[in-house]
Amino acid sequence: MRRVGAFLIAAILVAASAWFWAPPVWRSWRRSRIQARPFPAAWREVLRRRMPAFARLPADLQLQLKKQVQVLLAEKPFIGCAGLAVTDEMRVLIAAQAALLQLNRHAGGFPNLRQVLVYPGAFVVDRETPGAAGLVHDERRVLAGESWHQGQVILSWDDVLAGAADPADGQNVVIHEFAHQLDSETGPPNGAPLLGRRERYARWAAVLQGAYDDLQRRLAQGEDSVLGAYAATSPAEFFACASEAFFELPAALAAEQPALYRELAGCYRVNPLSW
Ligand SMILES: [Zn+2]
Repeated sequence: MRRVGAFLIAAILVAASAWFWAPPVWRSWRRSRIQARPFPAAWREVLRRRMPAFARLPADLQLQLKKQVQVLLAEKPFIGCAGLAVTDEMRVLIAAQAALLQLNRHAGGFPNLRQVLVYPGAFVVDRETPGAAGLVHDERRVLAGESWHQGQVILSWDDVLAGAADPADGQNVVIHEFAHQLDSETGPPNGAPLLGRRERYARWAAVLQGAYDDLQRRLAQGEDSVLGAYAATSPAEFFACASEAFFELPAALAAEQPALYRELAGCYRVNPLSW
């Protein structure tokens, strides 16, 4: 019995040290220290003035969102482009809207994201291979935003402000581009983000394909859709546009596509209908 006990103790020690040294443990320890800091009053003021969606969140999700903002600002560089000097207001407003996608997803933090580039307004990028694998760019607002599979989000500050100012118009470039980043965590964007348990993917694929086909049919017949025509351009754009509708037009989306709404609620682990 004593020898079995020694093996057991050794196994526990190995397991404990592996647990302690594993990078995720260090990361979560570092994050918990960041989240223990007070949330600066100036940042709270940005949320109050610039992001009406924040006030509508339940108190526990407001707290979660602020902690996510602290982590994103500590971990991700924000880089100004075309002469823009990035301010705390910009960083907080972008991170806070991105954090909507991370509520209740505790493993989050956009692990693939390396940097956020911010232009003062709509931007144009010359590129030899437009539409290269892994790139999804959004020209409906004359390049309001872009997401690169390699870990970059590019945003127009004018469009970030406009997206935050009206939280119920279904247009939010930050939600859109960061949804592409979630989609990129599983490979080149294809409309299938990480969902957790393996058995969930088959239902996700069936529901999203059904909703995508329904959107194509509606557009072909000249009908309106809460998802908009841009969502019909590819499965990746469908997921990003559906994410905008989920957070900004939940009642309309749930009425038009109840199964899609349920899948998105499972993916994002929140229910904006109740906010
Ligand atoms: Zn897009």
